Amino acid sequence: MNIIFLDYASTTPTDPEVVKVMLPYFTERFGNPSSIYSLGQEARAAIEGTRGKIAVALGAKSKEIIFTSGGTEGNNFAIKGVAYANEHKGNHIITSSVEHHAVIEPCKFLEKKGFDLTYLPVDKDGLVNPDDVRKAITKKTILISIMHANNEVGTIEPIKEIGRIAREHNVYFHTDSVQSFGHIPVDVNDLNVDLLSVSAHKLYGPKGIGALYIRKGTKVIPFMHGGDQERKRRASTENVPGIIGFGKAVEIASTYMNEEAKMLTTLRDKLVKGIFAKIDHIRLNGHPTQRLPNNVNFAFEFVEGESMLLSLDMEGIAASTGSACSSSSLEPSHVLLALGLPHEIAHGSLRFTFGRYTKNEDIDYVLEVLPKIVEKLRSMSPLYKKKNKVTNFSSKSAKEN
Ligand SMILES: *Cc1c(COP(=O)(O)O)cnc(C)c1O
Repeated sequence: MNIIFLDYASTTPTDPEVVKVMLPYFTERFGNPSSIYSLGQEARAAIEGTRGKIAVALGAKSKEIIFTSGGTEGNNFAIKGVAYANEHKGNHIITSSVEHHAVIEPCKFLEKKGFDLTYLPVDKDGLVNPDDVRKAITKKTILISIMHANNEVGTIEPIKEIGRIAREHNVYFHTDSVQSFGHIPVDVNDLNVDLLSVSAHKLYGPKGIGALYIRKGTKVIPFMHGGDQERKRRASTENVPGIIGFGKAVEIASTYMNEEAKMLTTLRDKLVKGIFAKIDHIRLNGHPTQRLPNNVNFAFEFVEGESMLLSLDMEGIAASTGSACSSSSLEPSHVLLALGLPHEIAHGSLRFTFGRYTKNEDIDYVLEVLPKIVEKLRSMSPLYKKKNKVTNFSSKSAKEN
């Protein structure tokens, strides 16, 4: 059976054009960029060329781009790097309650080490209120980290406005741009950010490579200590094939982003409309319009997300209940809880994320299969049998029984 892959937020297939440009760097062009003979210097030239391309795509300067092993490293580097380099100025860090684990966990780590953390709430659509950011800033605030686009519900945060507030207060501002880069416009100056993390495997590049933008003058401590690579900020021999592939992926994304976003928005809206027409007792999670072009996240009352996921898998559809990182635990997603969903409804959530290879027929297939799955699972739910006649969606309805 052909798999219909609708989980592009977790990872994307590497574009064949990307694989093609990477291959020579495993074999004939295998040199170490730190070696002074020509084999090494050719590799050096290739990665510096790519650094330039990625800088241009972000509206940054080459010297402000550091290659990392991915989004997780970029976030850890930014948050711990700024925290430890600016401890003398203060120990307060502001973040949100809907961040990826790769931001939440370094924040929790710093909290254990004596830093003071503020986790801002979001509204029912997942938006951080810039006024809340302003009010949370104290004389001790050294860093604000708020994600650009949410990986679970697709909500796009008001980064530009938050960045302006951070700048007014002379506080460093980091954004996790892993879900947005290559999908919607990302420009470090337009967004008013000082640090920004991206990852290649979310935009049809290889896994294990990413970049961190660090604005000139920003004080950070190095992430890895060792050799002099990456201007002494990130030791270790560069992942040359990964970097080259990342560059190609960014080039392709820059060319096709607008066209793809349009195509994905059409598919997204078709799926949303179709699900609302065919299934009752549901709600769309995340902002209705200020969301990623490729993200659909629904809460279904009286069904378990995991059961829907397994049933969909049997029909050849790969979807998700939220973040790949939390799906192995039984705790409902912290993002859905932060949006105000009760536990049992957060448990009944399903995420579809589309991409470059998604076809119109894939959406038709989901719209054919999903209503049957939901109906079948609900027919086994005693709660649903009792509540069948209630038509309005209420967050308390499942508890009232
Ligand atoms: C995937 C993802 C990450 C982690 O990136 P890796 O390259 O897999 O480490 C971080 N933040 C967000 C929002 C993501 O979607």
